Amino acid sequence: MLNITLLDSPHSFAANCYMISSGGECAIIDPTVPYSPELCQGRLKYILLTHAHFDHILDIDSWVANTDAKVICSIDEKDALSDPMRNCYKLFNGSDNGFYGDAFAIENGGVLPLGDDRISLMYCPGHTIGSVTYLCDGNAFVGDTIFENGGYGRFDLPTGNFVMMRESIKRLINLPDETRVYSGHGNSTTIREYKLYL
Ligand SMILES: [Zn+2]
Repeated sequence: MLNITLLDSPHSFAANCYMISSGGECAIIDPTVPYSPELCQGRLKYILLTHAHFDHILDIDSWVANTDAKVICSIDEKDALSDPMRNCYKLFNGSDNGFYGDAFAIENGGVLPLGDDRISLMYCPGHTIGSVTYLCDGNAFVGDTIFENGGYGRFDLPTGNFVMMRESIKRLINLPDETRVYSGHGNSTTIREYKLYL
């Protein structure tokens, strides 16, 4: 059974940051909260990135510096972490910031064990070329691909693509209706609720 906690970010313009845990191991999804040992529910194994946009990686350095967790992203997103154009630090902050440490790129369908559960990666390009959804125990962490009330992410930023976005949404709505959807911004929803807006 996966435990999911939405962490409170101190930043005014930050993506949702989730701590997930299972069987004494945990992972943080889109680190927008500074590292603190109390936030970890067991041994921190992964720092999971839905994509490389700056508002999803604001506190990544503090988690990398204080833990031995692996940074995980998709193959197509890895280079964007250190590219201020692609990660949008340039556009929104006017800075050349990014993440310049090691990241492990995982293929579509790749599986990461976490305690008693398994996290699988589903590529969902569209918002960015390397956006992914992490699936675990009936939950989908979708980043900025879809949002509550039938919403979906921008596809006008670097590497964004409307056709790919449409295909990714089609794949997501094929998940079981009861799948709980945790987006990068806003409240959680379910695939059943999402489909009501189509
Ligand atoms: Zn984004």
